Amino acid sequence: MLTPSLEDYLEEIYRFSLSLDTVRVTDISKRLKVALPSVTKALYKLRDESYIKYERYGEIKLTDKGKEFGDYLVTRNQLLQEFLALICSKCNFAAEAEAMEHYLSTATIDAIKTLVEFMQGNPFWQQAFKDFMDLKD
Ligand code: MN
Repeated sequence: MLTPSLEDYLEEIYRFSLSLDTVRVTDISKRLKVALPSVTKALYKLRDESYIKYERYGEIKLTDKGKEFGDYLVTRNQLLQEFLALICSKCNFAAEAEAMEHYLSTATIDAIKTLVEFMQGNPFWQQAFKDFMDLKD
């Protein structure tokens, strides 16, 4: 099990890996607004748990385990943002999903996924819910 902080590192490394051939410690430092020594420390932990390969001044490479979990983390974040939009929350979707993602059980994530799929597949229910929300405003 990774801590919320390490999950965020892995999530960002995976995001970068989708568009960059080489992910570097400075990319992560800038994106997460964290000082380099802290990033390095986190990378060593991810390396010790076999999510990445990393040498001090070298590149960050995701292992198969890292790719698989990174993909899960990015998908989970996207799902929660879709869910927040669906329930018409007036929050900042990105910030709220960022906060929620680490604390929900797999059972709840799966249930939310089913709800989002159901609502997306049933525009009538989605509209009925929106209308109901509008009445309460
Ligand atoms: Mn997060």
